[in-house]
Amino acid sequence: MSKAILEVENLKKYFPITAGVFNRKVADVKAVDDISFFVNEGETLGIVGESGCGKSTTGRMLMRLIEPTEGKISFNGKEITKLSDYEMRKLRKDMQMVFQDPFASLNPRHSVEQILEEPLIVHGIGDKATRKKQVREMLEVVGLSGYHAKRYPHQFSGGQRQRIGIARALMTRPKLIIADEPVSALDVSIQAQVLNLLEDLQKEFGLTYIFIAHDLGVIKHISDRVGVMYLGRMVELTTAKQLYDKPLHPYTEALLSSVPIPDPEIAVTQGVLSGDIPNPADPPNGCAFHTRCSKCMEICKQERPLLQEIEDGHMVACHLYEKEIAN
Ligand code: SF4
Repeated sequence: MSKAILEVENLKKYFPITAGVFNRKVADVKAVDDISFFVNEGETLGIVGESGCGKSTTGRMLMRLIEPTEGKISFNGKEITKLSDYEMRKLRKDMQMVFQDPFASLNPRHSVEQILEEPLIVHGIGDKATRKKQVREMLEVVGLSGYHAKRYPHQFSGGQRQRIGIARALMTRPKLIIADEPVSALDVSIQAQVLNLLEDLQKEFGLTYIFIAHDLGVIKHISDRVGVMYLGRMVELTTAKQLYDKPLHPYTEALLSSVPIPDPEIAVTQGVLSGDIPNPADPPNGCAFHTRCSKCMEICKQERPLLQEIEDGHMVACHLYEKEIAN
């Protein structure tokens, strides 16, 4: 039976909005508003949603790069939400992040060797000679060559830079990798190569992934299970197969109804989803999606639906299914 490597309970991140000469707090942007989920060892959990849905904030909170407002994050059975900076730095050996823009995330003044060696130095792993050997080995693992070690980030293409970003994340042999839009800045042909590389590395190193993206096609390709976020909330969570074969939440249905348009942001502009995303500083009462939902009922405007298991392992937050649970 699979074991949960990461468990998230009631996680929230509110960013205060201040105004006036005294900078009084007047409201909160509820970037992440009470989400709970788990990730099993060795699986890939995709998190998908439109821009501003809170998926990247969630990823950064899991790494404690952003402090949660409330909630609990447990890694390997140990709560990490309250760990000190020092303890968290030690833990990052096992939890690493791959970022969207590989160029911005690599220090342009450091050679690839320095970039890849740094996590080993930070965590006190190996001596100089061993570290150099490990750098060269890792470059080969991600499809580059040992001689690339002496080069600088600007000497590589976008796809190669993302390979360097992935290599850096792997240097400490982590158990969990949080990849935040890791292929969205790349050409489509290069995206496929990087996705295949991530899949190969998962098998080779027994990795667990949280894969954050707005592209439904990319998420389908790589994920075992998928969580759909809307306005800071998780609205549907199930296996990739169930989600793409039989989506239950009206928002997921709307996103997927445009098969030739697998990018939610394009889908929105092309009218597959009507209406604008509400202001996250002033989200609608009840179901956050009710202002755009063609199946909206009276109760949807009053009560927030909870994420509940509708079918085996298929979680949905929608009043349409509450009768089914009650029966
Ligand atoms: Fe639509 Fe109501 Fe379900 Fe929200 S709760 S998705 S408004 S039917």
